[in-house]
Amino acid sequence: MQTLNVDLGDRSYPIHIGPALLDRDDLIRPHITGRQVMIVTNDTVAPLYRQQLETTLARIEGLEVITLILPDGEAYKNLQHLERIWTGLLEARFSRTATLIALGGGVIGDMTGFAAATYQRGIPFIQIPTTLLSQVDSSVGGKTGVNHPLGKNMIGAFHQPQLVLADTDTLSTLPQRELSAGMAEVIKYGLLGDLEFLSWLEAHMEALMARDATLLTEAILQSCACKARLVAEDEREGGVRALLNLGHTFGHAIETEMGYGCWLHGEAVGSGMYLATVASQRMGWLDQADVLRVATLLERAHLPTHPPENMTPKAFLKHMAVDKKNIDGHLRLVLLKPLGQAVLTTAMPQAELEQMLTTECQ
Ligand code: NAD
Ligand code: MG
Repeated sequence: MQTLNVDLGDRSYPIHIGPALLDRDDLIRPHITGRQVMIVTNDTVAPLYRQQLETTLARIEGLEVITLILPDGEAYKNLQHLERIWTGLLEARFSRTATLIALGGGVIGDMTGFAAATYQRGIPFIQIPTTLLSQVDSSVGGKTGVNHPLGKNMIGAFHQPQLVLADTDTLSTLPQRELSAGMAEVIKYGLLGDLEFLSWLEAHMEALMARDATLLTEAILQSCACKARLVAEDEREGGVRALLNLGHTFGHAIETEMGYGCWLHGEAVGSGMYLATVASQRMGWLDQADVLRVATLLERAHLPTHPPENMTPKAFLKHMAVDKKNIDGHLRLVLLKPLGQAVLTTAMPQAELEQMLTTECQ
């Protein structure tokens, strides 16, 4: 097991990473202050890991544990289903000392975190992320929330967990496509801030995709450390945290154009990082060998590089024009200058970007 401490003053918390952590009541016990615990999970994850977690919690004396199972899917990450958590807590007469445990991917983590942020003005919660994406991304940073019909993640709060338990054994049941999608975010950390980690990923990508537990533990640790570093510098997102959006401006354009759920977020980010790399080359900040290096690594993680067939440069520009990072009508992109270092920039002329997209969208 490896442990990373996310350093946020009195809101600091540990992330434990490794195999068989779902069995470790000793790791969970110190972070539960009251006697009431609600596990929130979904109908895909519950049959796989609910019993194991309940058995572990049963070893902590005097706990009242209830489990709430939501339907699986981003489509249910909304206020209506959040209300089921609040209602469940009220029906069980859970007090302000109750603890919520999120058992599942990022959807369950975001919803449970937001329920914890809001129930009786805030109660503690524990994250047990079970997808690679949630282990390397959504479990660090304290963003919680739900979708609104008019926008993704538009309703939410910052609320830090007491503890994150990333059990690498849970990844054994994850569909291959979801593993690749999570790997896109892992590769992102190498590209944006750590050339050494990028080389390490290049040395081990096949073994990682084969779910080698030791290597996955290391990859998750490095990823969380990179995100935690940027988040600690910029907890409420005004500066360096934006670098975590590498590949996401192009990626969101792909997700919006294709309709959510068609391309997984990580797949869109994979292609988005490739496009950001090509854009960086156009700026003269990377060379052809760098572009090839990025494309090769993405392909080894079974991620797409090229944008969806039929997606036009115009569609890209339309969606990218509404990106949150833009200022005063100027498109702001996260690019690489050089490989292993990301910059937030408005330096790329629109015409240049259009030309690049025209070349890539064929
Ligand atoms: P997800 O939660 O939908 O999980 C993907 C699929 O895998 C689901 O069908 C889920 O039921 C299933 N699954 C989960 N664990 C499994 C396991 N161990 N074995 C088999 N199947 C399993 O998706 P995700 O990619 O984990 O998370 C995406 C969500 O996270 C989005 O809603 C996104 O907005 C959010 N997110 C939040 C943050 C943040 O900072 N809060 C960051 C990134 C993403
Ligand atoms: Mg992302």
